[in-house]
Amino acid sequence: MPALVQEKLAKTGYTRGATHREIYQNRVTRWNRVVIPWEQWASCKSPDDGTSTYQNGFIVLIEPDWYFTTSDADGVLALEGLALGTNALLLYRRRYQWRSFRPSGGRLENGLPFAPAFSRTAPLGGTYMARIHATTAEGGEEIVHGYNTTRMRGAGIRVYEYASQATAEAAKVQLECLIWACADVEDMPDDPRMNRPSRMQRQAAQMKRAREMDLWDVDRLHNARLINQARHTVCPLCLDELSVSDFLKRADQAAGRETYDLTLTEVTLFHIDELRVGKLQHKPYNLGWGHAHCNTVVKDAGIMPTLKWMKSVLDRNGDSWARLEKETASVEEAVNR
Ligand SMILES: [Zn+2]
Repeated sequence: MPALVQEKLAKTGYTRGATHREIYQNRVTRWNRVVIPWEQWASCKSPDDGTSTYQNGFIVLIEPDWYFTTSDADGVLALEGLALGTNALLLYRRRYQWRSFRPSGGRLENGLPFAPAFSRTAPLGGTYMARIHATTAEGGEEIVHGYNTTRMRGAGIRVYEYASQATAEAAKVQLECLIWACADVEDMPDDPRMNRPSRMQRQAAQMKRAREMDLWDVDRLHNARLINQARHTVCPLCLDELSVSDFLKRADQAAGRETYDLTLTEVTLFHIDELRVGKLQHKPYNLGWGHAHCNTVVKDAGIMPTLKWMKSVLDRNGDSWARLEKETASVEEAVNR
């Protein structure tokens, strides 16, 4: 496949980027250790993908406010199989937490040293991490402790970005087949690494594989807005058929210039179901390809809520093309008179 398509496909197995000051690791595979906020523990303690554990474990991050004001916080955590320094850490994100909720004498009440963690596997080497941004106010220096060396940046990945290696691979097979299902796939340009005959061979082989893995249930794909009646790949929001050439475009992300060009049809990874705590997003039948522009419009709101909002916008504007044409003219007149 053309290099750019290959690159898009490969990227789906990786998490998004993170700056070195963040809690998370930067662009790593989705089956890395996950970071779970303590407030979300109840709904996230086991992945909702039919398995009982995260492939590479987890670290629970605990607000110091909660830990230091709850009686027997260690006992509460122990009931859930959690312990600071083993699979849980205190996370300092705000300056008041750093000022008000630190033990005196360098030790926590349970006797553990109050030290920054540096290992992602138990023992974590410490009991806390801190990510407090610098402020211009007095004493507002940046505080970045734990997982901040070049070799060990970030404690893990965002829990909702997690997918086991098997799930991520399955998702990739389905996403590749969605490229092969583009209406104009015949027009895919030749690539030095793949001419037309070898491309057709690959297409047939991957489609066969997808069917065997139950990844090509056309009714399910259609209901999830990934393909249309003609079984061609569509953008999940606007339902326009995608073109293989859309996969070969790269958005012009000039520095300081957001691209809001309506003609821009670059294709990006699309989530069908909106983000919900405790629900993993990266799995077959919940991922598709869609326009980067449409994806920006949907953001985390979800496709159906976005469509409902669009409908209300159109209703208020009088849902007729003729009226919109007339409105365009009068807006221009009003602005430029
Ligand atoms: Zn679209």
